[in-house]
Amino acid sequence: MESWEIYCFNCKKSLGRYNEKYFSEQKVNEIIKVNHASHVYEGHEIIVKRITE
Ligand SMILES: [Zn+2]
Repeated sequence: MESWEIYCFNCKKSLGRYNEKYFSEQKVNEIIKVNHASHVYEGHEIIVKRITE
């Protein structure tokens, strides 16, 4: 199953996984802005990785 993983380098942790079937990359980027705004605000480096589980 393919998923997107939102990972914060500064916090060294995964912020969430979203099934690619239901979430487009654009949607995941919106989730980062809305749900993980505190990381963005503090200038943390957040990446979206594609993972297979
Ligand atoms: Zn962070």
